[in-house]
Parts: sequence; structure tokens; C-alpha cells
Amino acid sequence: MSARNVLIILGIVALGVLLWFLRDSTTQDIAPEASVPDIQTESDAKVEPVSTQEVIGKSVAGRPIEAYSFGTGPKELLFVGGMHGGYEWNSALLAYTFVDYFRANPDVIPEDVTVRIIPNINPDATFRITGKEGRFTASDIPSEADLAQARFNANGVDLNRNFDCKWQPQSMWRGRVVSAGTSAFSEPESAALRDYVAQYTPEAVVFWHSQANNVYASECEEGVLPQTLVVMQTYANAAGYGAVPSFDAYPITGDAEGYLASIGIPAVTVELQNRTSIDWDKNLAGVEALFALYTKPNTLAR
Ligand SMILES: [Zn+2]
Repeated sequence: MSARNVLIILGIVALGVLLWFLRDSTTQDIAPEASVPDIQTESDAKVEPVSTQEVIGKSVAGRPIEAYSFGTGPKELLFVGGMHGGYEWNSALLAYTFVDYFRANPDVIPEDVTVRIIPNINPDATFRITGKEGRFTASDIPSEADLAQARFNANGVDLNRNFDCKWQPQSMWRGRVVSAGTSAFSEPESAALRDYVAQYTPEAVVFWHSQANNVYASECEEGVLPQTLVVMQTYANAAGYGAVPSFDAYPITGDAEGYLASIGIPAVTVELQNRTSIDWDKNLAGVEALFALYTKPNTLAR
């Protein structure tokens, strides 16, 4: 290519750039800046996200506590896994599996329902045995781990004794005395759950634990809420678990389910049948039965 041709090409390019800038500045002069952002704000406000993922708090060691939501219906159902950490790691794994399932099958959520899932309320305790941040799988569980020690949060507190229902500084876990924290909600994990519930006021809350093969109702000082019995029986019948209206194996103080009962929110404890299986088919049937319970009859027929 000759030097003359290069100069001609450079000249054409320079002219093009000049024209482009001129046109750009003209457009800006004509179009009022304010109109475009106004339209976007209006349309954004009308669209509710169908699924969300957020961090609702931090554990004692600073690990994020995540919550996922699916659907936009007025009836809020909350599911919580991992309360007893690595000792009941299958409860968190079941909750993560539901997150995957609803992501892949958003159409199964009825239009009346919003599903909220906190898959792991006690991430420090699962980390102790998995050594893994965030989501883990069954293969991350070492076969010889001391799972009982992985029940407590990083302060050594049994989180399901740290809620504001008959709270005492020490409580029981089977024949053993466990720490319930320095006050009700002294632990950031319990406080995060309390605040999340206050934000959304769910119709019902299901806590996944293991292992007893039963669904338990809940109560604090005022007895079992009538709707709690309906939720318990509905889930237990569909899943094929036993239904236990009153837990009296040993006295428990400060449990999350009892706290929810005290503020008028039906809550049940679903105890998986062992400490390794997620009982997927059983729990899917239980959750679908709750969907039907909280869906207007004509919505299912549509
Ligand atoms: Zn448990």
C-alpha cells in the first residue's frame, strides 16, 4: 500500500469520527435526559422478581446465611434447614435440593404461594465437618466425623434453644445439658431468622431436622395453634411420616418452633427418617400438599 493511499484512508476515518461525534452531541441536545429514566423506574416497580437469592445475616464466624424465594403469591411458606448443622447435615441438603428443584421447575409454585427457603441457618456448624463454604454435597461428609459436636454454632450454642419461648441459659438435648446462649436471640443466626420472619410473616414455617421419622406440632405458653395441627397432619399424611401433636420426650426451652407459636405463626418440625437420606419423594409430597392447602380451590383446577 502506498503512502498516499494510507493518508486517504486515515482522512476518511478521521472524517467519520468527526461526523459521529457531531451526531452524538446533536442527539443529546434534542432528547431530554429525564424522560428515559422515568419510564424505566415505572416499569421496574410493576415487575416482582419470580425468584430471589439474598443474604439475611451472618453467622458468628461471619459466614453468610442465605434465603431463596420462588413465586410471587400472597401466601408465604417458609422452609428452614440446617438448624443442627453437621449433626443433621441431611436437613440442609434436602433444603438445597428444593432450591435446585424450584429453580428448574418454577411452574410448580402455585400463583397464590411464595416459597421461601433458608437452606442452612447454621453454616458454621456444617463447615466444621464439610470444610466447605456454602453449598455442600453428601460426599463432603467425612465418614468418621464427630457429628454430635457439629450440632452447635461457633459459640457452642444449640441454636434451637436460643429463641424467645421459655428461654433459659441452659437447656436439654436428650440426656445432655446444652448452652442456650447468653439471652434469647444472643446468637446472630437466631436473630437473622427472627428478623426474616418479621419481614414476611409466613402462613406456616417448616423446619427440617433428623432423625425421628415424624412431624411435630409446636407450642409455647398458649398451647398448639389449630392451624399448626392442620399443617402437621397435611404434611405427615402426604409424606408418610408419623404426626406428633406434642413433643414430650424431654423438656425443651427456647426452640424456634415454640417462638413462632408464641407470635401466632404455625410451625412444624419435620424429622427425616435417618441422618443420611434426604427422603426426597416423601418431602416433595409433603410440600406439594402444603401448596394445595394454601391454594384457592379454583386455582388448582385452572
Ligand atoms: Zn435437630
